[in-house]
Amino acid sequence: MRYEMMRPGQIREAIARGLPLLIPVGVIEYHGPQNPVGTDALIAQGIVHRVEQEVECVVAPTIFYGYTGQWAAGIEQGEIHIDGEALYGFVKPLLKAFYDQGWKRIYVVCHHQGETGVTMLSYQRAATEAAMEYGLAHGGTGWSADPDLRSAVFERVRVVGDAAFAPRGYGGHGGRDETAAMMYLYPETVDLTQLDKCRPVWAQDAHQATAELGREIGELIVAGWVAELRRLAQE
Ligand SMILES: [Zn+2]
Repeated sequence: MRYEMMRPGQIREAIARGLPLLIPVGVIEYHGPQNPVGTDALIAQGIVHRVEQEVECVVAPTIFYGYTGQWAAGIEQGEIHIDGEALYGFVKPLLKAFYDQGWKRIYVVCHHQGETGVTMLSYQRAATEAAMEYGLAHGGTGWSADPDLRSAVFERVRVVGDAAFAPRGYGGHGGRDETAAMMYLYPETVDLTQLDKCRPVWAQDAHQATAELGREIGELIVAGWVAELRRLAQE
């Protein structure tokens, strides 16, 4: 189910039934001339949408904008960098609203720069603050004395990489793996012939990408999520 397509009563029912909410997250970043600028967010989204076919869950709209640091390129290549404070300012009320709605588990599913990247750190800061504020609002100062609050609040939002539950993910930046991911998830967006004109240092192996490799890795990632969400449903 897609959050934006649900009526209020359907949302309340999904929360009451303990369904998880998954939020795909990435950035708008240069990924070489052969890939679309939405590659990271599209990988997270493509994986989550496949997970949704396998396990009952709710998928929130993808968040495409984030912190890139213009590491790969700038606006001339279509990249849009959002400063860390601005990103946090947007993410905080968003995550807090989802948190306060009462979802049993919210997964922020990020494909970009790893756990120490500003994008994931911004979501993690917002998630931790949402938990702290919920505890304070429901248990008052010293709310750690309430065992139910103490044990539950920090588990409710998990900020994880898209491949957190798989033996491997799509590594590198704009190279073989991510290009293969796009050939599998959104084949119409990739044009390998563009590599003949320009091949950035981090995309030297991009021409080795195949849709089969993308599917091989993608199926491992999806299987990891299916196992995680089935485990959660048993809790
Ligand atoms: Zn990427």
